[in-house]
Amino acid sequence: MQKPIVYDAPRPEPRALTAEALQSEIIEKLTYSVGKDPIVARPHDWLKATILAVRDRVIDQWMESSRQTWRTSHKRVYYLSLEFLIGRLMRDAMSNIGLMEPVQQALKNLKVDLGDLISLEPDAALGNGGLGRLAACFLESMSSIGIPAYGYGIRYAHGLFRQEMSEGWQVELPEDWLAHGNPWEFERRESAYEIGFGGHVEPITEPDGSLRHEWRPSEHLLAVAFDTPIVGWRGARVNTLRLWSAQPIDPILLDRFNSGDHIGALEESAKAEAITRVLYPADSTPAGQALRLRQEFFFSSASLQDIVRRHLQQYGDLGSLADKVAIQLNDTHPAISVAELMRILMDQHGLKWAQAWTLTRGVFGYTNHTLLPEALESWPVALLERLLPRHMQIIYSINAEVLTEARERAGFNDRQIASISLIDEHGTRRVRMGQLAFVGSHSINGVSALHTELMKQTVFSDLHRLYPERINNKTNGVTPRRWLMQCNPRLTKLITERIGPDFLDDIEKLTALDAHADDPIFQQQFAAVKRANKEALALLIKQRMNVVVSPDAMFDVQIKRIHEYKRQLLNIIEAVALYSAIRAHPEKAWVPRVKVFAGKAAPGYWNAKLIIKLINDVARVINGDPAVRGLLKVVFLPNYNVSLAETIIPAADLSEQISTAGMEASGTGNMKFALNGALTIGTLDGANVEMLEQVGDKNMVIFGLTAQQVADKRGRSEVPRSVIDNSPTLKDALESIASGVFSPDDPNRYRDLVGGLYDHDWFMVARDFDAYAAAQRKVDAIWSDPRRWWAMAIRNTAHMGWFSSDRTIRQYAEDIWNVPVART
Ligand SMILES: *Cc1c(COP(=O)(O)O)cnc(C)c1O
Repeated sequence: MQKPIVYDAPRPEPRALTAEALQSEIIEKLTYSVGKDPIVARPHDWLKATILAVRDRVIDQWMESSRQTWRTSHKRVYYLSLEFLIGRLMRDAMSNIGLMEPVQQALKNLKVDLGDLISLEPDAALGNGGLGRLAACFLESMSSIGIPAYGYGIRYAHGLFRQEMSEGWQVELPEDWLAHGNPWEFERRESAYEIGFGGHVEPITEPDGSLRHEWRPSEHLLAVAFDTPIVGWRGARVNTLRLWSAQPIDPILLDRFNSGDHIGALEESAKAEAITRVLYPADSTPAGQALRLRQEFFFSSASLQDIVRRHLQQYGDLGSLADKVAIQLNDTHPAISVAELMRILMDQHGLKWAQAWTLTRGVFGYTNHTLLPEALESWPVALLERLLPRHMQIIYSINAEVLTEARERAGFNDRQIASISLIDEHGTRRVRMGQLAFVGSHSINGVSALHTELMKQTVFSDLHRLYPERINNKTNGVTPRRWLMQCNPRLTKLITERIGPDFLDDIEKLTALDAHADDPIFQQQFAAVKRANKEALALLIKQRMNVVVSPDAMFDVQIKRIHEYKRQLLNIIEAVALYSAIRAHPEKAWVPRVKVFAGKAAPGYWNAKLIIKLINDVARVINGDPAVRGLLKVVFLPNYNVSLAETIIPAADLSEQISTAGMEASGTGNMKFALNGALTIGTLDGANVEMLEQVGDKNMVIFGLTAQQVADKRGRSEVPRSVIDNSPTLKDALESIASGVFSPDDPNRYRDLVGGLYDHDWFMVARDFDAYAAAQRKVDAIWSDPRRWWAMAIRNTAHMGWFSSDRTIRQYAEDIWNVPVART
């Protein structure tokens, strides 16, 4: 039994926030914690010493926050996510706690440049893309608006692969973010839980005649917690990101070593550790390996054991669980939690089915992130039975209960029953994790208005009919601290000078900028900020790619995971068409453009990798052709991650958000660009639709088929060939790509890729091409009228406040979690 908590136990004096105090402490940390004499210290030593000094200030707030939660018995929110793409932490912590200036000063006195240290910190790349970045923005917002919250995930030894280019092809290299240690994390060996796999289920008859089940796993390992503090704006609150690392139960496996089984002991330890070794590099397709399911159960089980333990420690009784605990499932990756909580409540704490089921649904909320059929997670029944036999039993029982309700209360027919069943009976029987998450939650949310609507009409239409009050929308957002204040200090300063600092605490106050959008002086200042950011990006492009780009050109940017539905292909085909037009009509006044691409492709996704190669092939030809006279440049920047995004986004003039309508659930990149004063060229997809509502159609360039039109065209197997034949520009561009103009070393390299557009054009690249090209010429026309351009750019910034993740989190808090939030 744990000791009761003494709420006023003594604590040290909080650390001073002055430059003097920081300066002497950095030296102290360098000497006594890093063990280096300042005269020989290397940049990484200074980085570590600085982080340790900053960290002390974070800890002061962290302890205060946690005491407050224990004292006030507030409901806690737990965000379960297999990915947290948090990026670098030092600038975020310093900026949010108000230490930027004193630390900069302290380091300057020590002859160290803060900027150099910042760029040395590795990116914590524990995610693939948008879903993981959303989890990171949410954690920061929950701290900023004062919600007691924990993020739970996996401490991957290796995050998403490092991308390098070899002759224009993507090469995947191991990522090693922990190579220099991680001063932000605290290992909590006392918070370790046993996780089981395999074995069998033992039915036990209790003295009162009731039946209880006990799972006897055949394999055990340990989940060990590592805690990272997540600082909110102005240090309002510091929450905890708790990541689990897998270890063998007996780390040195003494018995087996002593009995001479050295190999067996090593194998067992390697098997345990394999669970948290790598992040699956999959985006919009599920990773169908047993190891992935083991990862999912591992972190779900550890998190739930931790949550239940903490609840019992504070309240002593599980009856109040749903009043004090809200758990959000970020996509279906933690969906097995539904069965695991039922098991913990019934098998370990003796609750009856009905009460356990009510508590479970009271606790969980589920966020859906994709409707792509190929991306909906499911696991073979046989695999689940072998790995998690008790959970399979519970899933069958849940299914029986739900299907009975559907038949008896709602009068569902066989087709509807098949559609809502947790078991997919087509072919090999599989457990559908989306259905499990849905029935085990009281709230199911989509991430943009359009996506939520489509969710009701497609994947969950029958479940929606059965439980019409459950589906709701929570349009995504991004934290304005990282995605404006930290990544774009120049713009932040300019806005502060113009409308005062109130927007720092309430980002929707940015609307005050609207009144200044037509002011020529302000336009000039806004343009000068953009220009300075573009110079910084041009320098980076020169250093990394040895390509010279002019900051006078329009910076036209598409950075995101490479996927056919995101349509980097549409963009590069248009670049090819523009290239021929510039060559054919040298007399015309072309708007100079730099097309910037970045993004990783899943290692097994051939077409995505081929598109990267195509971008690089096209870049080589265009950048090297003197006839282009520098009017068009194409650059592919390798190894897209949060830090690279933080450099590119403030420098973008044009943001490419051109996914096939109906396929991008929300997008968050779109919001970051507009917030930083880029114009969007985009389809009516995901959150673009709501961005259009906020900024108005005068300030955004929208083109292309709607989601409804896409669905109609796919339904009628209409021939795309005629579309191509009717567009000479498209036809020429495709023929040049397919015939090897950009790949003389392998003229057939792109034949099949282009063939796909003639054949099925699933992603509507051919069908949307003319509209896209016309929209690009419209963008050129706006660019040629700078007063119009800058007015539009300013209005984009002015109206992006609504897309703050603070707003999103307030909506989750009010509608899903039922927790109070501090009003700003
Ligand atoms: C914002 C962000 C994303 C998501 O971008 P989308 O354009 O919405 O796909 C992916 N990766 C990183 C590093 C990001 O910062």
